[in-house]
Amino acid sequence: MGKIKVASVWCEGCSGCHMSFLDMDERLVELINKGLEINATPITDLKIPDEGTDIGIIEGAVATDHHEEEVKMMRERCKIIVALGDCAVFGGIPTMRNYIPREELLERGYITTESTVDGKIPTSPEIGKHLPKTKAVNEVIKVDLYVPGCPPSADAIYYVLKEVLEGRIPKLEGELLKYE
Ligand code: SF4
Repeated sequence: MGKIKVASVWCEGCSGCHMSFLDMDERLVELINKGLEINATPITDLKIPDEGTDIGIIEGAVATDHHEEEVKMMRERCKIIVALGDCAVFGGIPTMRNYIPREELLERGYITTESTVDGKIPTSPEIGKHLPKTKAVNEVIKVDLYVPGCPPSADAIYYVLKEVLEGRIPKLEGELLKYE
């Protein structure tokens, strides 16, 4: 079997899904020995996936214009897109902000919190602008595989990657399929 290239991005999430990825521990080495090659990920701190990457894993919901650009780039460059974790699959906790006007949220977060002194809402163009609504990944791009859970277990991630490496379409069921 040839190499299978994997890239991942971290959008509006807590990084717990990437922590679960790393929790595969020695099984990650096993997958690498079987041909898994990790290119652009928050783990390698490389931002742009290679053209023709086999698997693009997305953690987190799509909350800003930067996230929107990132997931679209993943779709363009990756053959299989995996929505990893409840935030990516359903929008999850980050969608709670959809019920509160954006300006009110930013003011609360940056100015009126009890621990803030002389706060201001950041305006740097380097920072992504919040979209009117935080979205699940499949509201922006086509998703091929859904791995729910908060976070999905390392066992579920291992199973998905191993199945794809061995040329099968993973079917999550039983203990590997969690919604929470
Ligand atoms: S699904 Fe859970 S663990 Fe993953 S990014 Fe969202 S909140 Fe964090």
